[in-house]
Amino acid sequence: RVYLPIFFIMGFIEEIQRRRTFGIVSHPDAGKTTLTEKLLLFGGAIQEAGAVKSNKIKKGATSDFMEIERQRGISVATSVLAFEYEGIKINILDTPGHKDFAEDTFRTLTAVDSVIVVIDVAKGVEEQTEKLVKVCRMRQIPIIVFINKMDREGKDAFDLLDEIEQKLGLTITPLSFPIGMGYDFKGIYNIWEKNVNLFTGDSRKDIEETVEISDLKSEQLNTIVGNTAAETLREELELVEGIYPKFNKEQYLNGELQPVFFGSALNNFGVRELLDCFVSIAPPPKPKQSEERLVKPEEEKFTGFVFKIHANMDPNHRDRLAFIKIVSGEFKRNVPYLHVRHNKKLKFSSPNAFFAEKKQIVDISYPGDIVGLHDTGNFKIGDTLTEGEIINYKGIPSFSPEHFRYINNADPLKAKQLYKGIDQLMDEGVAQLFTLDLNGRKVIGTVGALQYEVIQYRLEHEYGAKCTYENLNVHKACWVETKDKKSAEFLEFKRVKQRFLAKDKQGQMVFLADSHFSLQMTQQKYPSITFHLTSEF
Ligand code: GDP
Repeated sequence: RVYLPIFFIMGFIEEIQRRRTFGIVSHPDAGKTTLTEKLLLFGGAIQEAGAVKSNKIKKGATSDFMEIERQRGISVATSVLAFEYEGIKINILDTPGHKDFAEDTFRTLTAVDSVIVVIDVAKGVEEQTEKLVKVCRMRQIPIIVFINKMDREGKDAFDLLDEIEQKLGLTITPLSFPIGMGYDFKGIYNIWEKNVNLFTGDSRKDIEETVEISDLKSEQLNTIVGNTAAETLREELELVEGIYPKFNKEQYLNGELQPVFFGSALNNFGVRELLDCFVSIAPPPKPKQSEERLVKPEEEKFTGFVFKIHANMDPNHRDRLAFIKIVSGEFKRNVPYLHVRHNKKLKFSSPNAFFAEKKQIVDISYPGDIVGLHDTGNFKIGDTLTEGEIINYKGIPSFSPEHFRYINNADPLKAKQLYKGIDQLMDEGVAQLFTLDLNGRKVIGTVGALQYEVIQYRLEHEYGAKCTYENLNVHKACWVETKDKKSAEFLEFKRVKQRFLAKDKQGQMVFLADSHFSLQMTQQKYPSITFHLTSEF
């Protein structure tokens, strides 16, 4: 064991403490890209608006293939955006809002220490927000809510807060409150800082004027927002105090209480308040549970896990970038680390760290940071790297896909390329592969129909292989669990349902139920067998 000088250890602990790694979660169009951009502007990481490209799928304008490539290019660039603000190192991890990429977002949520949820004041709680927040709640991830587009006409603040509590199952506490809305939007009272932030009507961009209001009863409030608005605000704040619990940092960190801010990302209004509160309450990197033990960030030895893999866009350089979240210790360039699943040592001569829109080779990275490692096919999602200890991080489950199709080889001379391509695309987490027990046919399961286009296009362009699809009627893939593999009931299940049984890529047994009804019937008929909709249970 090497004893490090004390000043070195101090520096290491400080580096961990000053890191905040989070994701912005929202339904498409709520304002995630706009908010990200404003946050980067505050950090001085970018100089102008428009620097962060939206990774949305835009249908129609170009061919779908082109669109997929465009989207992939942007999502490589926006995978991790890092900047510094008031001495805090902030890492924003990209979480695609489009539902076809929900798996990607679920996996990224295993690498964040907190999230900001963006809600459109007019649209309220939307479908993708609901799904993603559910995952955050399951993992007790601390959440801050940002209600966006206050410059537009939207829902009444109290109605919307009710909706957030009910649909998202959150216990909220507003830390700011709007004064008017849309045409009458005058600004925001900041409960957290106790001041009024005025929204200037004329040139609405980038202007913030904050007035300290030490006493809400003072005439000063009437002077700046007008009598009616001042009275309404006083009444509403009284209601807020009566209805909602007081902010408590401990509860926020445990995922039991969620602060809410109002603002307008487009107008850069209420964003500084959000950011200031975020850096003071959001958690630094947390300990992480592995199958073997709990690993603390302050531990001297490096450990980390792969949560995302990105293929190179250039077909001539078919290497990939594996994104590693550092859990403990320091990750160093050119030091051999153990790839636990392969039980082999690998070292990396050019690990990438991420800044606003650039990546750059780094010598050393700390817990909370993300490094991008060039990979020629060693990694798959969920892999762990360590300094030698056998550690397997858990918590990157696969969910049952929504769509299922047979994949067929359309060019018999290119079978090898096809299987290699399928293998690598599955490791990247583009889709899931199931192999039928009965005849060995391969079935691709995806979250969205768009993935079939992505796979076909990439197989052709990156691997020189051609495929066709064939429809298959499957409702859900269920991972099968039984206590006794030799029980008469299990043997009968396997015999009767043989044509619905398959193996996933890990070799786990999966039941491909063809309808909700048949799944129910099967469950009733074989009570000693459990059918799971995720691969980890
Ligand atoms: P994303 O899909 O969540 O990344 O959403 P974007 O950031 O791309 O925003 C979607 C649209 O909403 C864009 O046209 C933005 O200009 C617009 N937008 C974002 N924030 C605001 C806001 O505060 N007020 C208004 N009026 N529009 C906004």
